[in-house]
Amino acid sequence: MQLACDSVVPGLGCEYVATGHSADATHAAMTAHGGDAHANLMEGKTDAEMMEMKTQMDAHIRQLIDQHD
Ligand SMILES: [Zn+2]
Repeated sequence: MQLACDSVVPGLGCEYVATGHSADATHAAMTAHGGDAHANLMEGKTDAEMMEMKTQMDAHIRQLIDQHD
């Protein structure tokens, strides 16, 4: 199972592709990548905004993976 970073955040120009044997593993890989490579997207946000963004991103990634099935 694969999920391209560019399909999660179109226009970012990132070539990373998360891979995993299950939806959960792919989701975890993409979430970890986002925290590592795109931490700058969170810059200047409050804790509440970060939590909100993380929640939305988690749901968004989950949806993309589910469509993939
Ligand atoms: Zn990326």
